[in-house]
Amino acid sequence: MTQGIVTVSYIGASILFILALGGLSNQETARRGNLYGVLGMGIALLATVFGIVTSNYGVLLGGILVGGIIGFILAKKVEMTQMPELVAILHSMVGLAAVLVGLANFLEHNTAITGVNRTIHDVETYLGILIGAVTFSGSVIAFGKLSGKIGGKPMLLPGRHWLNLGLLLASIWFGNEFLTQSAAGAGIQPLIWMTVIALLFGIHMVMAIGGADMPVVVSMLNSYSGWAAAATGFMLNNDLLIVVGALVGSSGAILSYIMCRAMNRKFFSVIAGGFGTSGGTVASSTAQTGEVTAVSAEEVAAMLTESKEVMIIPGYGMAVAQAQHTVNEITKALRAKKINVRFGIHPVAGRMPGHMNVLLAEAKVPYDIVFEMDEINADFPDIDVSIVIGANDIVNPSAQDEPNSPIAGMPVLEVWKGKTTIVLKRSMASGYAGVDNPLFYKENTRMLFGDAKSTLDAVLKAITG
Ligand code: NDP
Repeated sequence: MTQGIVTVSYIGASILFILALGGLSNQETARRGNLYGVLGMGIALLATVFGIVTSNYGVLLGGILVGGIIGFILAKKVEMTQMPELVAILHSMVGLAAVLVGLANFLEHNTAITGVNRTIHDVETYLGILIGAVTFSGSVIAFGKLSGKIGGKPMLLPGRHWLNLGLLLASIWFGNEFLTQSAAGAGIQPLIWMTVIALLFGIHMVMAIGGADMPVVVSMLNSYSGWAAAATGFMLNNDLLIVVGALVGSSGAILSYIMCRAMNRKFFSVIAGGFGTSGGTVASSTAQTGEVTAVSAEEVAAMLTESKEVMIIPGYGMAVAQAQHTVNEITKALRAKKINVRFGIHPVAGRMPGHMNVLLAEAKVPYDIVFEMDEINADFPDIDVSIVIGANDIVNPSAQDEPNSPIAGMPVLEVWKGKTTIVLKRSMASGYAGVDNPLFYKENTRMLFGDAKSTLDAVLKAITG
């Protein structure tokens, strides 16, 4: 394959990746966006394998085969509820690849590059490995937190900000050592030390972040993985890797910003960790006491059919129960009775950005009745029945009322302002942030206990007779 064909393929792949990002920003075009991405990656792989690589085809094809088979099996096996942790572990792979490629590239030590070019190349190598190592260890911890293998509470070491500062200064010092030694043909030692420091920093950074702030961490690690790839692209002199890395890095950064705004957090405060804490200890919200009013599925069906305005608030529990199809059937039945049904989606509902939108789209809920929190939060006083399906933190009034709560300041869906709220969950357990929810004890709240799929099936049966 000639260099010209490779360049044209790379430009084509870059355009397809940009179209993919554009497509993925909207539910109606997401499928097409995905297809563009797959196509772009296919072209990129073919052009790289047959146009750039000149030897070691056996190792390369062996690697692609093993990696491809593992990826295929994982993608087939993974449950929808496990998607967030799959995404986290995939970010860790990008980080690990950046570290290994960086180290291999350095060990090969291209003596043809000298002077300023050598320094620039070394800085690219150093940064690629640094960001890659932070991404790798941070993503592994994020995987642990999202899958519940590691507790959600922030780990707050005494003097943690000083520790972070120390690690940063040490990285800069080793960077200087590396540049000096590399010019003389050595430098592996400072490189290894920096890798260890960056790995520790990634672990410490994510361990210090509380459960409720995890959405920002996931999007931030996504961004880091992009920057690591871009730095590797500079190091390898591969234009496509630079473009793809920059696209992932900047879209991840924009997503982090959106998540921060949705949670009313400042990006740097989240990264510094320890949200929802006071004086170095984890703050707990006031334990809730009082009576809750349980209702039956038949009573819920009656309340729904007697109302004019219904708002459905899906949360993580809907994903666990896989109740989205029944939700769609209930929506259809109510709309057939001329009841106005709308969906209110909180930006951090579920366990990954857009989680609820994906599930509702899968169940074929019409897009025009699905609204973002900002679009419908003022409408609750006019709502007859709000039905909260396996959501908890995103409808917790303590975010507004309790300044010490770990979710204090996070905008929430103000369901309690409606006439009646029905909460579907299995028990009185708290949500991901581990905070009690005063909503359950409000006078106008009714609890429908049980797995959301079974209870909603019973509600549907009662509605349709
Ligand atoms: P929550 O985790 O706050 O609450 C989910 C509720 O669903 C639980 O209280 C649980 O109660 C209930 N539930 C679980 N399984 C079932 C079931 N089978 N049937 C019925 N109910 C069930 O979820 P939310 O969506 O309200 O909030 C999302 C939380 O996750 C936020 O804290 C957010 O910060 C965090 N997060 C979000 C990410 C994102 O990108 N969106 C990423 C990482 C974290 P019970 O056990 O009693 O049934």
